[in-house]
Amino acid sequence: MPTASLPPLETPVTELFGVGPERAAQLARLGLFTVNDLLLHRPNRHEDRRHLLKIRELEEGRSATTRGRIVAQGLKTFAKRTKSVFEFVLEDATGRLHCRWWNLPYMENYFAVGDEVMVYGKVKSLKPRTIDHPETEVIEGGEELLIHIDRIAPVYPLTEGLPQRFLRGLIWRTLARFEEAVSKPHPGLLLPDLPSRANAIHMLHFPQELPDVEIARHRLALDEFIDLQLAIQRRRRKLQAQASGLPCAGDNRLIKPFLKLLGFELTAAQTKVLRELRRDMGGAYPMRRLVQGDVGAGKTVVAACCALMAIESGYSVALMAPTEILAEQHYRNFKRWFGELGVPVELQTGSRKTRDERQVEPRQKPDATVQKPPAVSLTIGTHALIESGYSVERLGLVIIDEQHKFGVAQREKLVRKGRYPHLLVMTATPIPRTLGLTIYGDLDSSVIDQMPTGRGRVRTFVRSRVLLPKVHEFIRQKIAEGRQAYIVFPRVDEGDSQAGIKAVTQEFEQLQKEFAPSKVALLHGRLSAEEKERVMTAFRANEIQVLLATSVIEVGVDVPNATVMVIENADRFGLAQLHQLRGRIGRGAHESYCVLVAEAKSEESRHRLEVLAQSNDGFEIAEADMRLRGPGEFLGQNQSGMPSLRFGDLLRDRPLIERARELAGSLLDAEQARRG
Ligand code: ADP
Ligand code: MG
Repeated sequence: MPTASLPPLETPVTELFGVGPERAAQLARLGLFTVNDLLLHRPNRHEDRRHLLKIRELEEGRSATTRGRIVAQGLKTFAKRTKSVFEFVLEDATGRLHCRWWNLPYMENYFAVGDEVMVYGKVKSLKPRTIDHPETEVIEGGEELLIHIDRIAPVYPLTEGLPQRFLRGLIWRTLARFEEAVSKPHPGLLLPDLPSRANAIHMLHFPQELPDVEIARHRLALDEFIDLQLAIQRRRRKLQAQASGLPCAGDNRLIKPFLKLLGFELTAAQTKVLRELRRDMGGAYPMRRLVQGDVGAGKTVVAACCALMAIESGYSVALMAPTEILAEQHYRNFKRWFGELGVPVELQTGSRKTRDERQVEPRQKPDATVQKPPAVSLTIGTHALIESGYSVERLGLVIIDEQHKFGVAQREKLVRKGRYPHLLVMTATPIPRTLGLTIYGDLDSSVIDQMPTGRGRVRTFVRSRVLLPKVHEFIRQKIAEGRQAYIVFPRVDEGDSQAGIKAVTQEFEQLQKEFAPSKVALLHGRLSAEEKERVMTAFRANEIQVLLATSVIEVGVDVPNATVMVIENADRFGLAQLHQLRGRIGRGAHESYCVLVAEAKSEESRHRLEVLAQSNDGFEIAEADMRLRGPGEFLGQNQSGMPSLRFGDLLRDRPLIERARELAGSLLDAEQARRG
């Protein structure tokens, strides 16, 4: 028997009593293939069947479980038999309850007058007492009573054709047979405050008391987080075992003049982070560091200093940004900054590729006695850097700007262009602590937690669409004072069928009229790189006063004279993204204004936008955003690093995650000690 050698928990469900091909197919649809899958199939909820309500005790609007005997049932069809309602009447000693199913005529086949049935659902009305579409379970006699009735019973997610009581019975029997085979995940791991894994699995399904379920979840979530942390920390230790850090701490000969040229002093927070970076860059292992700093905190200058450390040490640097606009902007800044220092800066995007002449070294004569130091440079680019044949000698440092726009795989691809270069990733979307410990768990983290002085305040308002004329009047007033404005739209053109989203190009013509003689320009992702760059240059030079843009301006764009931002359909954006957008203003000394325009009909979207009106703290906003939308949505398109968790909850389990991290560390220490 090939399966004889399988670990018991890997036993396929098809070998269990009562599971034929049809049941196996149903279980497969739930992702249940092995005994282990069954044991970890998490109930949706539990039902305390020790104290069921009598039918008379049911309250309108409340969900409850009751039981009774079917005294009548029938199917009615109407609207030329295209619609139907199936109904049965349940009776106990205290009263009657009507249960109805709309347009599910086959329900008729599952019940018969005289059946004893348990039902769960929300009571719709008391005259007569009615529940629509309840969950049901026909009660049968025999030993099965022990599993289903008079206890706290698990209620599982199901799939069509799979009865609740079959699955519950199957899991009950599987537990009885395999519970013993659930081993301690890590011998030597002492968790005196928690049940063993085997006990936890039992409690998860058939708890003695309801709070046991959460205790069980804790244990199983902890096991999950330990596995995750082990993987993260193993990867990290492996890197440290395999690679030593390139000596890139520099000698200040470029940084000193650079800081003089800058025209401002670094903030204390920037200096603190730079010290951490320098320690890493001269350390024994390759740096793997995440620098978080709210929009406008001044990450670019920090990245520039870090790049100079590598360049001083004779290594090249690659900087990857998520959009061409941002790459171009960095290119312009770095060229200005580094040009005076004699450091070559190149650009490589999908549509443009520069080559600095200084990079091309004169051929050395073979007999040259004095070796020239190799040419080093800074290359700035978009993801074109990883897709094209970009390669560079002596790559010492990789910088990823706006890390959240890239996946981990892309980051690694660029890193692999060198031999274990240092890695600096930067993000302005603050990462909630639980995510920092899990998906970004292989990175050390620094925070620039202070803004440069002399920034004007940003005030944020939530306004409904009917006030738009007033908002535009406000923009005209600010333009008269010499300022500029952004108007942001969520979509590019009318092809989009989603109702309510205005066509940005149509809007453009309208706004041109409205703001004349001031100039309005349009910026969106479908323009060519040159067109984008032309628009940005004109806006920077205040030849354009109003920039109508899609969220392409979300990251990095830096025009201090723009002090007004109007965001239309603001309720369609995530909070973290709105905060990013808002970060485009408040960059100069003038007071800035962000107006979030939305119908905000629903309580939830109004509540969401209010978070922004009340806080300028990116961390607070990110936490709120993750709580409101969930971690998956929060992370957006790059969920590649998202762990799949059955029991762990990235919103609530921070203490567990921190504990798992420590435990994993000591497990690995012990493992290393054993190996000597
Ligand atoms: P972000 O952290 O969002 O990437 P940037 O690096 O683009 O922010 O910096 C925003 C603006 O603040 C830039 O114009 C930059 O030159 C300026 N800046 C950075 N650091 C300081 C500082 N210490 N003092 C004054 N201005 C600064
Ligand atoms: Mg930036």
